[in-house]
Amino acid sequence: MKLINRIILFFVCIFLINLSFAEEGQNKVIVGYYENEVFQEGAEEGAVKRGYAYEYYQKLSEYTGWKYEYVYGNFSELYSMLLDGKIDLLAGLAWKKERESLISYPSYSMGVEKYALLRHRQDTDVTNEIQSFSHKKIGVLESAMVDSLKNYLAAGKVNAVVETFNTYEDLFSAFDNKEIDILATEGDGTYSKHNAELLCYFGSTDYFLCVNKKRPDLLKQLNQAQALIDVEEPNYLSNLRSKYYHSTVSGRALTGAEKNWIENHPLLRVGYLENYLPYSGTDAMGNVTGIVKDVFSRMAGSLGLSQKAIIYLSYDNYYDMIEAMSRNEVDVVFPVGGGLYYSEKNGIYQSQPLIQSSIYLVSAAKSGNHVFAVNRNNAMQSYYIKTYFPEARIIEYENIEECLDAVRNRVVDCTTVNGLRSDILRSREYKKLFVRQLISADSRCFGVNIGNEGLLKLLNRGINMVGTEFAQNLAYRYTEGLYNYRISDFLMDNILFVILMILAAVLTGIFFIVRDANHSKKALAAVESANKAKTLFLDNMSYDIQTPMNSIIGFTSLASASINKKEKLLDYLKQITVSSEHLFAIINNILDISRIESQTVFLNEDEINFPAFVADITSILSQSLKEKNLDLTFKQNITNPNIIADKLRLQQVLLNILGNAIKFTPYGGKIYLTINELKSDEKIDSEQKSHFEIIIKDTGIGMSEEFLNVIFEPFVRDKSVINQKVQGSGLGLAISKRIVKLMGGDIFVTSKEGMGSEFIIELPLTICEFAVMQEEKKSTRVDFSGKRVLVCEDVETNQIITRDMLENSGFLVELARDGVEALEKIKLSPESYYDVIIMETRLPVMNGYEAAKQIRVLSDRKKALIPIIAVSSNAYGDDRARIFECGMNAYLTKPFNIPSLISALKGVVTR
Ligand code: ADP
Repeated sequence: MKLINRIILFFVCIFLINLSFAEEGQNKVIVGYYENEVFQEGAEEGAVKRGYAYEYYQKLSEYTGWKYEYVYGNFSELYSMLLDGKIDLLAGLAWKKERESLISYPSYSMGVEKYALLRHRQDTDVTNEIQSFSHKKIGVLESAMVDSLKNYLAAGKVNAVVETFNTYEDLFSAFDNKEIDILATEGDGTYSKHNAELLCYFGSTDYFLCVNKKRPDLLKQLNQAQALIDVEEPNYLSNLRSKYYHSTVSGRALTGAEKNWIENHPLLRVGYLENYLPYSGTDAMGNVTGIVKDVFSRMAGSLGLSQKAIIYLSYDNYYDMIEAMSRNEVDVVFPVGGGLYYSEKNGIYQSQPLIQSSIYLVSAAKSGNHVFAVNRNNAMQSYYIKTYFPEARIIEYENIEECLDAVRNRVVDCTTVNGLRSDILRSREYKKLFVRQLISADSRCFGVNIGNEGLLKLLNRGINMVGTEFAQNLAYRYTEGLYNYRISDFLMDNILFVILMILAAVLTGIFFIVRDANHSKKALAAVESANKAKTLFLDNMSYDIQTPMNSIIGFTSLASASINKKEKLLDYLKQITVSSEHLFAIINNILDISRIESQTVFLNEDEINFPAFVADITSILSQSLKEKNLDLTFKQNITNPNIIADKLRLQQVLLNILGNAIKFTPYGGKIYLTINELKSDEKIDSEQKSHFEIIIKDTGIGMSEEFLNVIFEPFVRDKSVINQKVQGSGLGLAISKRIVKLMGGDIFVTSKEGMGSEFIIELPLTICEFAVMQEEKKSTRVDFSGKRVLVCEDVETNQIITRDMLENSGFLVELARDGVEALEKIKLSPESYYDVIIMETRLPVMNGYEAAKQIRVLSDRKKALIPIIAVSSNAYGDDRARIFECGMNAYLTKPFNIPSLISALKGVVTR
């Protein structure tokens, strides 16, 4: 019934709020803002505001649309302003009958205040026994607390003297001067002195956000909003309270049991688990390190312990650690976890969680979760598995690395890794493992022997004081040690790629050889020529790849050694960029030719405007033309300027041939680019083709006659060029010829040594009415602050690069390592959580195409429509059609730079 009532109330409130919005139209609200530590801070113009009440105002605004104007003053000034109607809202007022006619109280309170009694720390006359208050002087602020205190004393039949004070200042100074024996104060109050000790709580009161009597409209909206918060976010106020009041007066005053513990224990002996960073471990100097050390150092002062009074003992094994505590070798151990059931079995109390961590299930592909590898030294792991996978069989190993190896070698199905220790998984050898976050998190706590209540309470108090965020934030200091991404790893990653490339190239070579062998009538001669070609190919390949690779390795090591010399560093980085680009071009060429040979290249159909197209090309080449003072003359003789062709491929061909002309024409020479339209065909099925001729002529070094016979073979270069060590791979023309053939045309060449060369590309092209001109790319910096992007990428270096580029533009970045993870994250995310997805097309487990398809059919239509940018390694966009078929909105080719990433994002993310 209650639930139904709440649901009805929920809808009624939504209706009313909408109604009132429509009615009011205006939503400016004036808040009286007074300074009150933790509750409401920053009470002056321009000061950063924070605190319980401040956060509460913002929450209300989410439900009411209120925009606040703050008026500052002390409480009594603001209270008078509220009575006079000069401000609309004032927070923190207790209910009082006499106030009811002057101000409006909403139906819901904004919080509850507990009243506490404190004694002087040294005063042993007063105890927790209420009778000991007899004839003692109790000081209290003139407030609602007075009645509460009197009722409490009356109920306990105690005859104490209640003295009231008008301000906190007077009250506290009376206590400090021992004019009063007992201090009555608010539990959430700001009394932060250490000379007080908590005796008991004696009551509580609700406090309210009160409204100016002349604004019934605001009261109505406030009531509706509070009712809605109660239904939609039932834990909101308790969470807010624990966020701001974890270190209240009760956190500072010690109970008798705690004080007793401190008095009887001059030393605190801490047992910690070895090799368990970031939680605990021992550093190279033999000292304790990790969260354990920082938390105890931080807590010590607050708990009245000196840091020197804490000694640490390490244990390799969890059971040994617990056992040592039961022998009274140590007082407290850290960390313990895995649930209360096992704590009870081990005879320990667990403190409140110091830190909560997610747990990852790590498995090899497609294996189940029946057999788990468990680190025998970490019982918390097996407790967790026994609790959440009761059917599982457990096999023990010496450490987590052995567990992961067992998973990798498929000796077991899986293991678990603590979320804060997940950097272990960054090691190269674990990269292929599948990692899933499990639903249940696990806590890491302090453990003390059952019965050691004083220390347990002391520790809980300490945890409340430092707050759980403290430990969580520290964790990252120690996770670095779990794994370091070394330069050698970086090189290994890339070398693997290069080896793969070489393999691809070798296969291509073998393909040529086999092809040649098939064509040859003389088997023996074919084998010989195959061997020759193979040797030549490998020689060329290894030289061409090694040269830039050597530079990259060499300059990388020089750069690491010059980290503090900015200019040198920049210079080395520039060299690395040049060599990487060259290596990238070679690899792309090798891949390209192998794909063309294996006929897996598909041509796109783009509308092209010839003059604009040529302008683009000349602008790309303008810098190199300028450097060599070359003169490029462009002439066109065409009647149909708009044609249909694969723009990137045609550009590739022209850039290649024009690039060669620039490369092989000496300083001050001339280059001519001419486009002639030769003849138009008859229209067939509304499609009209025309024959074009693109001529590129230079006044360069020319080529020998014998070289012209083989010029379009892969990897061949003229002797003079090789002798002069001009950079190149001999692949450009081979690729160009094949592309032009794919387009139905051909390339011819004439040349004379020392005189120059002329390349003629003949192409039949479909003509079209008009071509859509591309928008000019503006390089203005765009701020995407607060937008959230899900980057789906499995390769770590790429993850880092993409993440950093996106974060530079203000994005909040989240990662998914495969398509399944991406899909899960999107399904589990709240509404409108992600603004855009960047999807690598080649992903393990489920590829990017499939993931995009599945996102597009999600039943939640908002999620189904999140913009997706595909990222593909296919430089010429052959996969563009497939990308769009799967419902993705844009594509980027790897490697991309910041401007191209931003321009792709600009197109799909609404700012
Ligand atoms: P790369 O330029 O990378 O070596 P290409 O396949 O584009 O590869 O060219 C192969 C070779 O053809 C060049 O190395 C050069 O020997 C010769 N060549 C191509 N274009 C010209 C030109 N315009 N002038 C002189 N030689 C050329």
